Amino acid sequence: PAQGERRETRSTCPYCGVGCGVIIESQGVQITGVRGDPDHPANFGRLCTKGSTLHLTATAPVTLQTRLLQPMRREHRGDKPRPLGWDAALEFATESFAQIIGEHGPDAVGFYISGQLLTEDYYVFNKLAKGLVGTNNVDTNSRLCMSSAVAGYKLTLGADAPPTCYDDVNHAGCIFIVGSNTAFAHPILFRRIEDARAANPALKIVFCDPRKTDTAGIADLYLPIQPGTDVMLFNGLLHIMLWEGWTKPEYIAAHTTGLDDLKATVRDCTPDLVAQVCGIRKEDLFTAAKWFATSPATLSLYCQGLNQSTSGTAKNAALINLHLATAQIGKPGAGPFSLTGQPNAMGGREVGGLANLLSAHRDLSDPQHRAEVAALWGVASVPDKPGKTAVEMFQAAADGEIRALWIACTNPAQSMPDQNTVRRALERAEFVVVQEAFSTTSTCDYADLLLPASTWGEKTGTVTNSERRISRVNPAVPPPGEARHDWAIAVDFARRLERRLSGRPEPFDRARDRPVERSLFPYTCPESIWNEHRESTRGRDLDITGMSYALLEKTPLQWPMPEGATQGKARLYEDGVFPTPDGRASFANTVYQPLAEPRESRYPFSLTTGRLRDQWHGMSRTGTLGRLFGHVAEPSVQMHPQDMRRRLLAEGDLVHVTSKRGSIVVPVQASPEVGLNQAFIAMHWGGDYLGGCSSTGHRLAGVNALTTSAYCPSSKQPELKHAAVKILKA
Ligand code: SF4
Repeated sequence: PAQGERRETRSTCPYCGVGCGVIIESQGVQITGVRGDPDHPANFGRLCTKGSTLHLTATAPVTLQTRLLQPMRREHRGDKPRPLGWDAALEFATESFAQIIGEHGPDAVGFYISGQLLTEDYYVFNKLAKGLVGTNNVDTNSRLCMSSAVAGYKLTLGADAPPTCYDDVNHAGCIFIVGSNTAFAHPILFRRIEDARAANPALKIVFCDPRKTDTAGIADLYLPIQPGTDVMLFNGLLHIMLWEGWTKPEYIAAHTTGLDDLKATVRDCTPDLVAQVCGIRKEDLFTAAKWFATSPATLSLYCQGLNQSTSGTAKNAALINLHLATAQIGKPGAGPFSLTGQPNAMGGREVGGLANLLSAHRDLSDPQHRAEVAALWGVASVPDKPGKTAVEMFQAAADGEIRALWIACTNPAQSMPDQNTVRRALERAEFVVVQEAFSTTSTCDYADLLLPASTWGEKTGTVTNSERRISRVNPAVPPPGEARHDWAIAVDFARRLERRLSGRPEPFDRARDRPVERSLFPYTCPESIWNEHRESTRGRDLDITGMSYALLEKTPLQWPMPEGATQGKARLYEDGVFPTPDGRASFANTVYQPLAEPRESRYPFSLTTGRLRDQWHGMSRTGTLGRLFGHVAEPSVQMHPQDMRRRLLAEGDLVHVTSKRGSIVVPVQASPEVGLNQAFIAMHWGGDYLGGCSSTGHRLAGVNALTTSAYCPSSKQPELKHAAVKILKA
C-alpha cells in the first residue's frame, strides 16, 4: 500500500471456527481498525470481544515486541539465537533434513502443523511430506481439536462432512448442546442461539456438560454429567427412545444399517444405570430423550467435550446414532453439528493434512486413493506406512525414532498433553525448525532454526469454517521485517529439498523467475495452490470444482459445489442417501468405556480444561492486550466452594495441583460452575504466565504439565479434557 493510503480489506477472523467475516481498516502499512463484515453469512457484521480487538494486537509496538522479524539460528541449544539470511536459513534446513533422511530414511523426520494455517499452506506441507519426502509423518494440532469428529462422521455417515449449517439454529425446535461452552468458545454462534430463543419461545434447549458454564444460562434443561460419561448418556437416551416408541422405524429401515447390534448394547443402559453413572436425575433423562426425539427438528452442537477424549470417536458416533434413530437429520433445523475449534481445522481436513488422510477426504489406508493422489501429484507413489499422529510423533521424537521436526504455526511446548514427554522430544530431536509469526511461544525456546512467518492481516488464501463455508483471507498490510508467508516458506524449502534429494538441477528458473516444469511445487501464488487442491476434489464428496477465487471474493461458499453448480449446499443428506457403498448410514455399536484415568483416593479430583471468553489458545496474540484480561486476569484452579471448605482452602490460596505427570502452583478460586470432586483450569496460561523459568531453564508448561496423552484408539485424539489430580495447599 502507498504510504498513508487508507484502505478497507475484507478478510476473516483468525480465532475460532465460527469463521466471522471482518473488514480490516488500514493506513499505509499499519492496521488501524477492524469491524464485522455485514455481508458475511457467518456473522452478518457481528464480532465478539476477541474479533473486535484484533487490530489492537497488530499495532507496531506490539509487533516489535512479539513478532519474529528475521530468520534466526541457534548454534547450540540454550544459546541466544542469531539472525541469518533467508537463503542461508533454508539451505541449513535443507542440508539438515537431507542428511537425516539420507542416513535414517524419510520416517526419521516429521512435520507438525496447525489448524490456523490457511488451506494453501496446509496443502503444500502435506505434499511436501507425502509426495516429496516420502513420509506420512505430517500431523497437526487439529488432531487435538477435531479428529474425533472426523472419525465419528466417517464411521456413521460415511464422510467427514458436518451435514448442517448455522441457519439451522433458526429452524430447530430443540437444540442439544453437549461438551461445548458455546457462549465462550463460539460467541457469535451463541448470539444466534439467543436470537432464535427470543424469536421462538417454544424452542427447547438442553445443555449437557460437567461444568455449569455460561452456556447453561440459556438452557431449559441442564444435565450435569460426570466427566467422560457421554456415551452412557447417549446410549441411555436411545434406550428410552426405543422403549417409548420415539424412534422412526421407516427412516431407519430405508436409510440405515446396524441398529440391531446397537440395540443389544443399549438394552443394558437402563435409566437407573445411566442416572447413576452420569450423576443426573432420571426424570431429566426422560425429558431430554423426549425433546430430542419428538421435536420437529433437533440440532445438536458439540465440541471438545466430545472430541478430546479416549472415547472421542464413540462419543461422536453415539450422538449421531440418536439423530439417525429419530430421523433428526437431512432437514432444516436438524442434524449433528460439530463446532470446529480452530479457524481452519476444516480446511486442513479437506487437503488431507493429517497422518492418516490424503487430499480431498481420501484415506491413506486405501490403495486406490493413494494411487489417485500419486497421479494427481505426478509422483510414483504415496507411502502406505501410516504416519505418526500428534502424540505418537512427539513420543517417537522422545524415543529417538524421529530426529528432525518442522513445527509451523503452533506451540506444542504448551498445547500438547503430557509436557514432560513433549519437551523431552524437543530436547532430544537433532534438528527442530519452528516456523512462527510470534517469538514469544514456548516452542521457540527449543528451535535450532526460527523462520519468521506472516499472520492475520498479512496473509492471503482461504479458510473453511464449521458449516463447510470457504472464505477468502486477504492481506491489508505486508508482513513486518523479513517475515514471509507460510506457503512461500514451505515451497522454497520444498524446491531446495527436491533438488537435493533428486540430485536434479535447480528446479527454479531464476532467470525467468519461475519454476521449471518438473518441480512438484510450481506455485507462484496461493491461488495456483488452491486451484490444484480444487482439482483434487473433482467427484469427491467435497467437490469444489464450481468455485474459484474470483467467486469466493464475491461471497463465501459452502461445499460441495461441483462444476456447473451456481451455489454451494447448505444441508447434506436431504435425500436420505449417504456417501457409503450402499448409500446407507451406519449405526455405530458404541460401548461405554470409562475415563483413561478415573479419580481415585490419591488423585481425588477430576480436572477438566477449557477456554475463557476473551483469550485464545496460548495467548500469543490475545495475551498482548490488557483489556482482554479484564474478564479473567490470572490463571487459577476453580473448585466447588464445598470442596474448598473441606480442605480449609480460602479464596486466592496458592495450591499445588498435581497429576501423575507433573505439578503446577496456582491460586484457587471458588466456582459454583464446577461440580463436587471436580476442578477446572483454563488452557491459556503457560510459559511466562505461570512464573517464569523452571529449573531446567525452559518456561513452565501450564495445565498441560498435568494432562494425559492417552488417546482415542480410533481418532488418536488425546484426553485433554480429563486428568485425575490432587490439590494441596502450597
Ligand atoms: Fe472471531 Fe470466533 Fe469471535 Fe467470530 S466468534 S469474532 S470467528 S473469535
